[in-house]
Amino acid sequence: MHELPLTEQIITIASEKASEHQAQKVLRIALVVGELSGFVGESIQMYFDVISKGTLCEGAILEIETIEAKWYCPSCDCHYVREPLSFACPHCAKDGLPTDLGKEFYVKHIEIDT
Ligand SMILES: [Zn+2]
Repeated sequence: MHELPLTEQIITIASEKASEHQAQKVLRIALVVGELSGFVGESIQMYFDVISKGTLCEGAILEIETIEAKWYCPSCDCHYVREPLSFACPHCAKDGLPTDLGKEFYVKHIEIDT
């Protein structure tokens, strides 16, 4: 549900960028969505298709790059993707620490028709 205001914001940002450059259309929007960001790429896409209608973003391609959540093992100094029911490092089997990798959410790139 909370993807709706977010999607509106993305459309506003992209449309403003297009207007600034006197572009008629937004062609492509690239988003980076971390697994732990709380946002679901499919929902953003679904809202985007509906609410972009009649805006400069209508018909634009939404590219969503998903970032896997990573854990950190201080013993091995490595990052890893944990197994669903475990926090253990795959190299030394000690429990690792959560990191900010996978919490990202940002607009990476906006391509407009100039
Ligand atoms: Zn380790």
